[in-house]
Amino acid sequence: MRRKLAAGNWKMNGLAAALEQIEAMAPAASGDTEVLICPPATLLAQAAALKGDIAIGGQDCHANASGAHTGDISAPMLKDAGASYVILGHSERRTDHDEHDDEIRAKTRAAWDAGLTAVVCVGESLAEREASNTLDIIGGQLAGSIPDGATGHNLVVAYEPIWAIGTGKVPTTDQIGEVHDFMRARLEKRFGEGVGRSVRLLYGGSVKPGNAAEIFAVSNVDGALVGGASLKAADFVPIIEALS
Ligand code: 13P
Repeated sequence: MRRKLAAGNWKMNGLAAALEQIEAMAPAASGDTEVLICPPATLLAQAAALKGDIAIGGQDCHANASGAHTGDISAPMLKDAGASYVILGHSERRTDHDEHDDEIRAKTRAAWDAGLTAVVCVGESLAEREASNTLDIIGGQLAGSIPDGATGHNLVVAYEPIWAIGTGKVPTTDQIGEVHDFMRARLEKRFGEGVGRSVRLLYGGSVKPGNAAEIFAVSNVDGALVGGASLKAADFVPIIEALS
C-alpha cells in the first residue's frame, strides 16, 4: 500500500506570517494521508520546529555536500534544518537555472546520501504534447533524472505538465492516467516490480479544491504536488481531505 501524499510547493512565496498557515493545516495531516510543505529555505527551520505531523522539504539542493557555492544550499543542510524531503528538477528550475537531467540525477543522489526523500519532477511542454512526444519526454526525464538505487522510501515522482502549472489548465483524467500508468510501468521495469509499485506518483499543475477529487480518482495517482493552492490552509485542507 502506498501512503497518499499531499505536497505543497510554496516556491518563492512566504514570509514568517505564513507559518500560521502550516499550523492551521496540521490537524488535517493525521491518518493515511501524509502532508508535506516545501516552504522557501528562509522558513525551513521554523516550519520544521512547529508541532504536528506535517513533513517539511526543500525546493532544491546542490549536488555537493559543502563548498564554495555562494547562495546554494546542500542536502545535508536541508536535513540539518529539519527537512525530510526535497523537490528536484522542477520545471521552473529546469527553465530558470538551465538544469538538465544529469544535474538533477546528481542532486537526487546527494539528497539520498543525506537521508532525504527526493520528489523528482518531470513534465512536457505544450509544444511537446501537441507534437505527441509526451511519453518520450517523460521516459527520457525518468531515465535521466533518477539514479540507480531508487526505493519506495527515497523517491517520489511528480508529473507536472509545464502548460498546466499556474495556468488553470488541467489535462483530462485520461491524459493524466496515461502518463501515470506509463511512469509506473517504466519504474517497475527499471527497478523491479516491488520497488516500482511502491514509489508514489504525484500529479501537479493547477490542482484546486474543486478538481482534486477527480484527479485523485485516476489510477496510479497517489497524491498531488500543489503550488498556488498550498499557500493557504483554506485551499490546501480541502485538497488534503479529498485525498483521505
Ligand atoms: P500550481 O499548483 O500553482 O499550478 O503549481 C504547480 C507546481 O508547480 C507545483 O510544483
